[in-house]
Amino acid sequence: MNEKSAQSYYRLLPGIAYFCYLKKSEMYRTHTCGELSISNKGEKVILSGWVQRSRDLGGMTFVDLRDRYGITQLVFNMEMNAALCMQARKLGREFVVQVSGLVAERSSKNMKLATGEIEIIVEDITVLNTSDIPPFTIEDNTDGGDELRMKYRYLDLRRQNVRSNIILRHRMAQEARRYLDGQGFIEVETPVLIKSTPEGARDFVVPSRLRNGEFYALPQSPQTFKQLLMVAGFDKYFQIVKCFRDEDLRADRQPEFTQIDCEMSFIHQDDILNMFEGLARHLFREIKGLVFGEEFPRMPYEEAMRRYGTDKPDIRFGMCITEITAAVRGRNFPPFDSAEYIGAISATGCGGYSRKQLDELTDFVRRPQIGAKGLVWARVDADGTMKSSADKYFSADDLLKIAGLADAAAGDMVLMLAGEREKTLTALGELRLEMGRQLGLRDSTVYAPLWVVDFPLLEWDEETGRWYAKHHPFTAPKPEDIQFMESDPGRVHANAYDLVINGTEIGGGSIRIHDPETQSLMFRTLGFTEEEAQKQFGFLLNAFRFGAPPHGGIAFGFDRWTAIMGGSDTIRDFIAFPKNNQARDVMIDTPATIKQEQLDELGLVIRKEGK
Ligand code: ASP
Repeated sequence: MNEKSAQSYYRLLPGIAYFCYLKKSEMYRTHTCGELSISNKGEKVILSGWVQRSRDLGGMTFVDLRDRYGITQLVFNMEMNAALCMQARKLGREFVVQVSGLVAERSSKNMKLATGEIEIIVEDITVLNTSDIPPFTIEDNTDGGDELRMKYRYLDLRRQNVRSNIILRHRMAQEARRYLDGQGFIEVETPVLIKSTPEGARDFVVPSRLRNGEFYALPQSPQTFKQLLMVAGFDKYFQIVKCFRDEDLRADRQPEFTQIDCEMSFIHQDDILNMFEGLARHLFREIKGLVFGEEFPRMPYEEAMRRYGTDKPDIRFGMCITEITAAVRGRNFPPFDSAEYIGAISATGCGGYSRKQLDELTDFVRRPQIGAKGLVWARVDADGTMKSSADKYFSADDLLKIAGLADAAAGDMVLMLAGEREKTLTALGELRLEMGRQLGLRDSTVYAPLWVVDFPLLEWDEETGRWYAKHHPFTAPKPEDIQFMESDPGRVHANAYDLVINGTEIGGGSIRIHDPETQSLMFRTLGFTEEEAQKQFGFLLNAFRFGAPPHGGIAFGFDRWTAIMGGSDTIRDFIAFPKNNQARDVMIDTPATIKQEQLDELGLVIRKEGK
């Protein structure tokens, strides 16, 4: 019988009661499908689960029965019980069945499976429910494409590897709660229907039915509420909370995501870093069994940019950026002579890269996302002599000097980029990551956390010609820099910090402004009028007039942190019901239109395209 006919067999025979509800007194199972071992040999057991697959081998039929806990092999013997064996042969994939039988030792054991030493010699079988043929195979290596699996996410979640990601997430949440509760934090829920928060992304809005023309905004984070909780004297707050940001689509970004959001009173920056380094250590220990001996490095933003070309350096490997501008300018090599900045990395052991590989790297740096104009290379041969793509312009001494600055030895390849300082550093940072990838230095089983500190408070935006808060407008400037707030805003550093793991920003936060004068100064610098500031954040500014304690906090991207702990950079795999990269939920098919009645109630008119 082929699969399709097996699958529909039970439906085609109306006379057969093909599924049943057990009487209240009978139990569905005595054990789970992941539980039985050789020590249960000879026991009579009842199991319930899904048929993962069945195989007919000669006179025997083997069925893999699956539930959340594992897989147990069922065996049916034609000689011993032909009717039962025939019944087993007709089970379709994903049928829900209950079996009773005897635990027996397997003749050929599968030591990869927890239950691999035993099988159940089935004595009785009940079909609890049938199933349509699933649209993809529900096994670790499935044949289903992304979109199909998203549409049938509940089936995808039956796969052991997907389920284990969700279980990892659960454990992360429990352990975060355990640590924070142990440190005296109080978990407080904050509202979801609010008004704009200061993270600076676009809001999702919800129209009000009771007040047509007015809208709630969904929180980009509970930022203002957690600060109000500090004013309220809660002292230590946390929440594992959904946040919403209507940002442009990018691979692996979700419009709704989860933060571990935290705030503390009467603390300095060091207290926060120590407290949350504690959280990171706790999670690494409990989830990964990893203990970090050393303190997490604390790297100033300026150093991260200068040596890694990014504010989230991947410090699993070296290959840091060195500036070589002074050493190579003025050799009549136009790309270098016209550049504000020239930087290099030394790709360890890449001296043997072929023409083709170097061309590919040139293509890589020229991609619009990277934006470099070209790549100049210089390799150090085994005898210490050097060869470069710009040989014509550089003497042997020049090349040796470059190698010296970039710390390149025999067998290494120096890769150089030139241009405007910041852009070139960013491009070198990308090139460094690419080389790290090519050289296998970005091992997902190695974890290298660090704190990036001393961020600039403000960021100049060319397009709008004004300063923006790099973090958000409640971030405190470093006291020693406040004097420059009006005269030279770009020079002001913030008491802000990020936790970075393996080149990914896992969390960020800051010490907050808690006095009205500094807050007004900040709003003025950001170009807010007094009225605008009052309109948007008046409730917080008012609260600050009633004795706001010094406070600060941090929020961690929970989806991303879980993904990293799972050795992946795809957050979607760690969210039970994610959106696709078009921000759609293809399972429930949303966003979707709503009924005219609903629009009327909300006082909304949908503009037809082009009007
Ligand atoms: N609310 C900030 C964010 O979501 C984090 C913080 O400052 O605590 O980025």
